[in-house]
Amino acid sequence: HNHIERATPGKVMAAIEAGEFEPHLPDRQSFLEYQAQGGYRTLRLLRAAGDWEDVQEQIVQAGLRGLGGAGFPAGRKWGFVRSNPGPRYVAVNGDEGEPGTFKDRHHLEREPHMFLEGMLISAWAIEAERCYLYMRDEYPAVREILRQEIAALEAAGLVKKGYIEMRRGAGAYICGEESAMIESIEGKRGIPRHRPPYVAQVGLFGQPTLVNNVETLYWVARIARFGPEVLNGVEHNGRTGLRSYSVSGRVARPGVYLLPAGSTITDIITAAGGIAEGHVFKAFQPGGPSSGILPATLSDVPLDFDTLQAHGTFIGSAAVVVLSDEDSIRDAALNMLRFFEDESCGQCTPCRVGCEKAVKLMQAEKWDRALLEELSEVMVDASICGLGQAAPNPIRLVMKHFPEEV
Ligand code: NAD
Ligand code: SF4
Repeated sequence: HNHIERATPGKVMAAIEAGEFEPHLPDRQSFLEYQAQGGYRTLRLLRAAGDWEDVQEQIVQAGLRGLGGAGFPAGRKWGFVRSNPGPRYVAVNGDEGEPGTFKDRHHLEREPHMFLEGMLISAWAIEAERCYLYMRDEYPAVREILRQEIAALEAAGLVKKGYIEMRRGAGAYICGEESAMIESIEGKRGIPRHRPPYVAQVGLFGQPTLVNNVETLYWVARIARFGPEVLNGVEHNGRTGLRSYSVSGRVARPGVYLLPAGSTITDIITAAGGIAEGHVFKAFQPGGPSSGILPATLSDVPLDFDTLQAHGTFIGSAAVVVLSDEDSIRDAALNMLRFFEDESCGQCTPCRVGCEKAVKLMQAEKWDRALLEELSEVMVDASICGLGQAAPNPIRLVMKHFPEEV
């Protein structure tokens, strides 16, 4: 399985399609098992006599926020999309490209139907003509699971053949940006569009489009079936809800941990079995490289949406990477900027040239802090999309918290 994930996606897919090997499919809840436990009952009831505004109200009460990383209030999107004339579409972002993030994969490999039902409830709510499912190419097992389970839905008559169309990403990080994803689904080069107009108004094929991340839809199904209490009934450190933290790095048991949204890095490390043997906790990436690196001293801050604003960053997709005394923080930050340099779509100068210049400046033995700060300001202010706007976060946070290293 690891071998598949590390190889070049195109080659892997060619090999799968040529029948040279099949991806290992983890045990997951099948369509029949899901249905036997009450699955799709909510969808059938809603389709027969449901009121979309009632379900939207439950989502608002639950406090569900966009779990791709931006945290936009999920309950508001249906109304935005519906206020525009159809045809309307659902486009699911399953590109999960943020380094350190693997929670969507975790949920899809275990409960694919909880996600599929959430997607179909959302499609019902906005009266969607069709659902497009954009899946990360590096997850061949997930795509095969979805192919089989969508076929089961079609065979059971829950959706017409072709109503759910799965598209393969091609390994480009920027295609996880929603408007670049839409360009890619339309068959064009995946580069972000200017916003506004938001995709809720002008999205796929110029039509109003509901874009949600996989896990957000997973929770839509849970809330519609079990009520808002599945999220708003959990409280910790003054925050409500649950977060799927993808935890990796210097911990004893890396993995996905479903914990209260108010969890601190200490709670998260404890859930992951503590710090790996022989290491001393030094720093952490709270939510992907775009969130930068924070010091171990911030151990009592709840890692939830909005709580890191005061520290100049955000929790994003909750991709927590733990670093230890064995790690060079400046090397970790340089690695992050190299990633952004590679993945920048190149459309706008502040990001294309800014990332390249930042990498050069960060290779100096002693960083030119004033110049890096000036460069960061330009990138934040003038880049078109989140990639260029957030790329300076590792630079700024390392200069602030680890000045001795740079
Ligand atoms: P955003 O705040 O611009 O938008 C979030 C969502 O809200 C979008 O769907 C947008 O269309 C919608 N929206 C915002 N304002 C709106 C309005 N006024 N009317 C209608 N809709 C509106 O953020 P973004 O650029 O989509 O996402 C940035 C986040 O993505 C970062 O926080 C980062 O953590 C995360 N990210 C995640 C991954 C991953 O693999 N999960 C990868 C890269 C980045
Ligand atoms: Fe492309 Fe970077 Fe500009 Fe985003 S900020 S549009 S990734 S060049």
